[in-house]
Amino acid sequence: MSAVIKDAAQAKTLVSLRNLNKHYGDFAAVDNIDLEIQDGEFLTFLGSSGSGKSTTLSMLAGFETPSSGEILVNGQSLVNVPPHKRDIGMVFQRYSLFPHLSVRDNIAFPLAIRKRSAAERDKQVDAMLKLVQLDKFAHRRPAQLSGGQQQRVAIARALVYEPRILLMDEPLGALDKKLREDLQDELRQLHRRLGITIVYVTHDQEEAMRLSQRIAIFSHGKIVGLGTGYDLYQNPPNAFVASFLGNSNFLRVQAQGNGVASFEGQAVAMRLTPGLAKGQDALLMVRPEKALALSREQAALEPLPAGWNEVTAKVGEVLFLGESQTCSVITTGGTAMTVKALSAAGMSMKPGDEVKVRWAVADACVYSEWQESDLSKAAGAH
Ligand code: ADP
Ligand code: MG
Repeated sequence: MSAVIKDAAQAKTLVSLRNLNKHYGDFAAVDNIDLEIQDGEFLTFLGSSGSGKSTTLSMLAGFETPSSGEILVNGQSLVNVPPHKRDIGMVFQRYSLFPHLSVRDNIAFPLAIRKRSAAERDKQVDAMLKLVQLDKFAHRRPAQLSGGQQQRVAIARALVYEPRILLMDEPLGALDKKLREDLQDELRQLHRRLGITIVYVTHDQEEAMRLSQRIAIFSHGKIVGLGTGYDLYQNPPNAFVASFLGNSNFLRVQAQGNGVASFEGQAVAMRLTPGLAKGQDALLMVRPEKALALSREQAALEPLPAGWNEVTAKVGEVLFLGESQTCSVITTGGTAMTVKALSAAGMSMKPGDEVKVRWAVADACVYSEWQESDLSKAAGAH
């Protein structure tokens, strides 16, 4: 408890986006965003292509002008401050290095245009080369480097004038998976060492989870979820976030009052949900790894624990995925569900088997409002 209070006291807002909008004609690319970014945090904008992430970042960088709203840094409005006076560094997906300049001169470029002395320039560039572990490549041209090395040059160039805030728009998107993971680890360490504020854009949820202290989930120009990866995954604020992050089972139920609902005509228990009226439609969301599938024999041996639900289903497909296994089932009433378990736990069912699917009431989120499009994966895109 005391740790929570301490964190809250230390958290200081660095950037505020207030009622921020960007319209192209009558299309809202960014639709009334409100966001407070804490000093020193690693915050990621996560969303499908076209959801407004880059436009929001570009307004923060100063490359786009808001249609309306405010951007404040330390309480001061940035809207009329040109990009190079914003104390903000930026790294894009395409490295955008100068091909005719050496690594050293690429990194020195922001200091040259800021007219810093040669001595200061050399000192800063040396420090940056060391930071991104490119000391041995200082004299090479970008074309003589791998993609990952080029992106490290771009990061060094963005950091060399010690901006308070670093913006990164899908900086690892062009790299293959292994290299991307290595650079993710480097970025996390860099952030920890420098203590700067990083705002990062990606459409890759695993990348967002690996890197960020908080994630803002974008859909149709709005932020529809904001929190740690853990909280957004374990307790999604709405059905869209539940379906967008990871996999979900959605069960359509009708509230019966007092923590009871009817699912396919059968009573199931659910979390008490304020504001949910008797007879109202609701959605239960259970993560596949929180559901269990038991054979009829197992179910007979293991009585249903208190606070759990059980429904009958038929196995469709069992997939072995290495570390884990999934089993897709159809309930008696025709609802498709997926159950996931670690392979070590062993799932012995076969297609066609009858199983009992169980989940704990505490593990099922309840939503009283949603749109059908929220429940499909691609819903964030235009
Ligand atoms: P993201 O980075 O999340 O993929 P963007 O912020 O780039 O999305 O774009 C959000 C939406 O705004 C998209 O539908 C895109 O087509 C539209 N958009 C972006 N820039 C312009 C522009 N200059 N003119 C018209 N529409 C634009
Ligand atoms: Mg983008």
